Amino acid sequence: MKVCYPGTFDPITNGHLDIIERAAKMFEEVVVLIMVNPRKQCTFDSQKRKELIEACVRALPNCTNVTVQIGQGLTVDFARHLGAQAIIRGIRAVSDYEYELGQATANQMLDDTIETLFFIARPEYSFLSSSIVKEIAMNHGPLHGLVPRVIQEQLEQTFSTRS
Ligand code: ADP
Repeated sequence: MKVCYPGTFDPITNGHLDIIERAAKMFEEVVVLIMVNPRKQCTFDSQKRKELIEACVRALPNCTNVTVQIGQGLTVDFARHLGAQAIIRGIRAVSDYEYELGQATANQMLDDTIETLFFIARPEYSFLSSSIVKEIAMNHGPLHGLVPRVIQEQLEQTFSTRS
């Protein structure tokens, strides 16, 4: 089964990578899908996010079935275009559930052949988000254990030149 894992990944964190590793064990093919949302202001452009995700995934064991793509428009349309049968999402807290329920229900209405499957975040990553990571980086706090080294270096570089 081929699945896609859509998101913003601005930037990818250890929480995202944990979901990717777990999905890669279960499914034949996993496509990490960077969905471009013109209404969202991102720190890294989509091409940079793709390169960073590829570098992080390459370093993971048993993830040769994971690829990265950039998509736009409706996620279900892009999932269908990829030939993915399901959309993977992660849930950290009840607040995620409320949002995800809305998205999954809308996607089901748009195309009921594509299922949404949820992975529950590991407790050690349940607070972790791209926004928190950027907030820490902006204030020159410790990023160890939250993101891979390549992301840490990128964030330090980005926020040292901006402040
Ligand atoms: P989006 O803007 O689509 O929410 P994100 O990059 O923030 O994109 O997240 C992509 C998916 O990964 C979402 O389903 C989100 O709930 C999940 N996710 C984000 N951080 C974590 C984490 N620490 N652990 C598990 N899942 C996560």
